[in-house]
Amino acid sequence: MSRENKSSNIAFRKHDHRRCQRQLLSAARQVCETRKLRLTSRRRQVLEILLASHQPLGAYDILAELNRAADAERIAPPIVYRALEFLLVEGLIHRIESRNAFISCVHPGHQCAAQFLICRDCEQVAEIENGDSGLLAQADNIGFAVDHAVVEITGVCAQCQKHGE
Ligand SMILES: [Zn+2]
Ligand SMILES: [Zn+2]
Ligand SMILES: [Zn+2]
Repeated sequence: MSRENKSSNIAFRKHDHRRCQRQLLSAARQVCETRKLRLTSRRRQVLEILLASHQPLGAYDILAELNRAADAERIAPPIVYRALEFLLVEGLIHRIESRNAFISCVHPGHQCAAQFLICRDCEQVAEIENGDSGLLAQADNIGFAVDHAVVEITGVCAQCQKHGE
């Protein structure tokens, strides 16, 4: 346990997720404030839906969730896509390409590429910071200019392995 990095495996451990939600929402507000951006209620709603868990959600799941919350007005897909685009560009959420889904970032606003461990049993996703990733360092070493890095590793988390025994 001690060799594991705390932030990178929280998704796979029992933890008080309300704390994650509070911390990540206030971190997101902070990012918007610093960058003089508006976290409109729609953007915040989409972020909050993604903050509900460490499982990625597709745009249509988010749309369904929004329409369940809103009483009268029906929200159209472009509205969700625009909110997602904003959150993506500002580094408040990430896209999980292999799932065509989105997940809230665990350290909102960072600019470096992220790597993801995806458990195929519980479908939780853990984000790992890519700072000194061997892969990107090697690209740098050979003078390769990376413009888009996607590292998504699928497997079974320690919890699910225990349950499977
Ligand atoms: Zn959590
Ligand atoms: Zn992130
Ligand atoms: Zn799992």
